Amino acid sequence: MQAIAPQLVDLGGLTVRRLLPRAARRLVGPWCFLDEVGPLAFEAGRRIDVPPHPHIGLQTVTWLLEGEMRHRDSLGGDSVARPGTLHLMTAGRGIAHAEESPEHATPRVHALQLWIALPESHRETAPAFEAHVDRPMVACDGARVAVILGELAGIRAEGRTFSPLVAADITLAGAAEIPLTPDFEHGLLPLSGEVVVEGERLERHHLYYFAPGAPALRLQVWDGAEARVLLLGGAPFGERIVMWWNFVARAPEEIAAAREDWQAGRRFGEVRGYPGARLDAPPLRGRPVAPNAMS
Ligand code: MN
Repeated sequence: MQAIAPQLVDLGGLTVRRLLPRAARRLVGPWCFLDEVGPLAFEAGRRIDVPPHPHIGLQTVTWLLEGEMRHRDSLGGDSVARPGTLHLMTAGRGIAHAEESPEHATPRVHALQLWIALPESHRETAPAFEAHVDRPMVACDGARVAVILGELAGIRAEGRTFSPLVAADITLAGAAEIPLTPDFEHGLLPLSGEVVVEGERLERHHLYYFAPGAPALRLQVWDGAEARVLLLGGAPFGERIVMWWNFVARAPEEIAAAREDWQAGRRFGEVRGYPGARLDAPPLRGRPVAPNAMS
């Protein structure tokens, strides 16, 4: 297994850990972006506040371990995610959204923000937003597994997907064998406690990559206490994508067009009710990066 160290990224005074894309690993299946926020306690008066911004060509997944997050989008979607709730937004040809701590939020947060690249056949799909307040649970030996999205052990979580994939939140109380889809590649991110995989103790805030081929993954707690890990998987994404800012595309020209549309107030609609200005796109310097050019 390959260990990927996080990159610390400053998001307007909030430091998050970026696990995807990284130089060592750009994608895990169609999963092309993973940020871990926290766990942290907010100082008095501080909160998360990401003003309206656009997306194309991807789905976003928000999964909280602690705290709450309010989502508002240009389709009129308005929902507060709490631990156990899936926020799944399909950007398709274009959507805008804002994310912020709701009023009277718990002063702590531990959150995962993920993006899924849409395959060529669906990347122009109509935008949509889904909130699911509970997720199916699977018992695997000494583990309780919440299937966040996709399918694990024959259990499918409600939520629209466009290519074969899985995301699962695994709570481990002893040893467990987690069944895998053999033609998927997988990623594992320890979230709390200490976990051993194939005899190796996982380092917190690192993403571990597993190539396709394994029928199962043997996980074990290190010290007898409970541990929690995120499992991501999917069929290797056979398309070369281009990423810049909040956009996933295939060609730099599409990125430039999406940026222009956002700046001109076209295509993405308006996030109503958000009390503040929307984000300006950064200047487009150089060419957008092709994150899976190396893989
Ligand atoms: Mn976003």
